[in-house]
Amino acid sequence: MVAPIGAPRVLLRRLREIMAEPESPQTRLDRIVVQIAAIMVAEVCSIYLCRKDGSLELFATEGLKPEAVHFTHMTRGEGLVGRIAETAEPMNLSDAQSHPAFSYRPETGEDSYNSFLGVPVLRAGHTLGVLTIQNKARRHYYEEEVEALQTTAMVLAELIISGKMANVEDVAVEFIHQNHLQLNGIPLSEGIALGHVVLHEPRVVVNKLIAEDVALERGRIRTAISKLRLTVDDMLARGDISATGEHRDILETYRMFAYDRGWGDRLHEAVATGLTAEAAIERVQNDTRARMLRQKDPYLRERLHDLDDLSNRLLRILAGKTTAASKEALPDHTILVARHMGAAELLDYDRKKLRGLVLEEGTTSSHVVIVARALGIAAIGKISGAVDKVDTNNAVIVDAITGQFHIRPTNEIIKAYSDKVRFRAKRQEQYKEIKQQPALTLDGKKIDLMVNAGLLVDMPLLEESGADGIGLYRTELQFMVSPTLPRLNAQKENYAKIIQAAQGKPIVFRTLDIGGDKLLPYLRHQKEENPALGWRAVRIGLDRPGLFRRQIRALLLASEGRELRVMLPMISQVSELDAAVELIHKEVAFVKQHRNFSSENLKIGIMIEVPSLLWQLDHILAKVDFVSVGSNDLKQFIFAADRSNVMVNERFDTLSPAFLKVLRQIVLATQKHDVALGLCGEMAGRPLEAMALIGLGFTCLSMAPAYIGPVKSMILSLKAAEIQAYILSGIETQKETLRPALEEFARTNEISI
Ligand code: PEP
Ligand code: MG
Repeated sequence: MVAPIGAPRVLLRRLREIMAEPESPQTRLDRIVVQIAAIMVAEVCSIYLCRKDGSLELFATEGLKPEAVHFTHMTRGEGLVGRIAETAEPMNLSDAQSHPAFSYRPETGEDSYNSFLGVPVLRAGHTLGVLTIQNKARRHYYEEEVEALQTTAMVLAELIISGKMANVEDVAVEFIHQNHLQLNGIPLSEGIALGHVVLHEPRVVVNKLIAEDVALERGRIRTAISKLRLTVDDMLARGDISATGEHRDILETYRMFAYDRGWGDRLHEAVATGLTAEAAIERVQNDTRARMLRQKDPYLRERLHDLDDLSNRLLRILAGKTTAASKEALPDHTILVARHMGAAELLDYDRKKLRGLVLEEGTTSSHVVIVARALGIAAIGKISGAVDKVDTNNAVIVDAITGQFHIRPTNEIIKAYSDKVRFRAKRQEQYKEIKQQPALTLDGKKIDLMVNAGLLVDMPLLEESGADGIGLYRTELQFMVSPTLPRLNAQKENYAKIIQAAQGKPIVFRTLDIGGDKLLPYLRHQKEENPALGWRAVRIGLDRPGLFRRQIRALLLASEGRELRVMLPMISQVSELDAAVELIHKEVAFVKQHRNFSSENLKIGIMIEVPSLLWQLDHILAKVDFVSVGSNDLKQFIFAADRSNVMVNERFDTLSPAFLKVLRQIVLATQKHDVALGLCGEMAGRPLEAMALIGLGFTCLSMAPAYIGPVKSMILSLKAAEIQAYILSGIETQKETLRPALEEFARTNEISI
């Protein structure tokens, strides 16, 4: 006998009726197995649930001996049921007893049953239990029967966690988000933040599982899939990589899945079993998650993750929630949690409410992290599985000193962190005390400490930090937050306000550094295989002289005759500098027609980010007023290691002799040409790295404002001559990194790092 067509829908209806009746969880379970056996035309139906100790316990059965209920236990992996729990995959056998995994339990009396169908009871990819049916006749169950049992298992899972079917305390449901959990990652932007979760990609909670009208649900899923395809196509066509923080390969994977017939078919089949469109997505998603949790190959795991993301998008389309979380009202102490995010997306949030950022991916020098640092929010990265382990509004703590992420912390943990926050506030007070002091080493070397900025709102930090000026003003941030290309006047007014806010302190305006991972939504970019090596920064400026000249004009007009420092990013050869300078001088000539402007006041510099410059230093230094090392990009190109790729970013250390020798070479060349030198990459803001840089001969460092205090207190306890001697011998060694040696140096010399 085979289960009749339509059995799943009848089953779901019966389940709903049983749930509506006021009965104890055990009675419900007992009635459910009877119903499933009857409708699936099975002689046996059993439910095993996972206990907290990891074992599987028979909770209810129709057909096996009743005395086995709550008596039969097996460990995960043991027997057919244990195997299903472990692999989270169904098993469909015509002769169960001859299967090598079969484990005979005399107390159940199951020896007379030959065919066996078991499916995992899954919730969010985790196995809650196993649902089985058995028959005496030897046969394979049909695909429709497997589907029907899986759908039933899904509804059971919902009922279990709602406590309607078993005592939740008895069942291993630790993934239900209620307990404290600590996940470990890496600090990205220093700080400690206590607050509440906002999911950057909000999750839709599926409440209604059973469909009223299957045809209607079928139509809903079809429409949603079409919409999803359109959005993914659109994202790819726009090359919308930086805006969403998604790499092209993720978008390509999205597209592949969105058009995958297999995926679509599975969703339709799940709807056909009587689930709502939302529940059908969740059913298919459950299988994906189960596979994801068990997948060892990182590449395949990532692709399953992509499919999971795509399912979430589909759920959001169905729920009509397609606007970004940044457009919703935020709690006062928002901690954003995301798999990944683009710099522009982070800037979309109300910064007054933001306290912390948690990324499953994310590296120290990716642009979203630079923005987080500029906004002064604590950020941690490489927190694998963070998104799945939190719910919207959960209380969380971001410890961006150690890289810990506490989810639903206990009162003791909250108290410990509140103490830490107070301690840090005290330290900030101490930094304030040294704020007015010049950054002089113990042997009298003055180091200029500058800040990196990019938005007008950063400007108060210049004064608060006590910095000497702005060593890097990333002009592209204004472009990234604007929905359209800022016009000449808007640019001019913005620069004028910045100059005014700096109150006479020097500002290095870097011309637009877009491209790579900083795309402007309103500017069309070609698809690029290697955007970091592609059409970006000054390369765009030279190919789009109108854009470049407009910015220069805005800067010249805003400076109103005062000193203006303009810095060109990503210069790779001397001729690019020449071409850019020519364009700049055309603008100077234009401005001079209308206003008083002395060319004396214009200082032109470049960033050293591209290794080719290392062999042209003599030529290029003869033509510039200043240079600044962009160590983020320079390092990525020297080591051929993508700065935003978690797999390779930490592989090579900035404190390796190889990299430090490159920096030393730049110091010597600038000394020879008497050209002012600075460094404005992220390494400048880390006290240990800053100590090494001073040893190499750097006297100007530019960093996020929060690091001025810690770096200055390092400088006040350092003897420049000693670190210089130490590091110059260190860089001649063959070591992979000088980090441990420099830490030891700092310890023995009592340098505050
Ligand atoms: C750098 O590359 O080090 C730098 C400061 O520029 P950005 O991080 O903006 O690329
Ligand atoms: Mg750069």
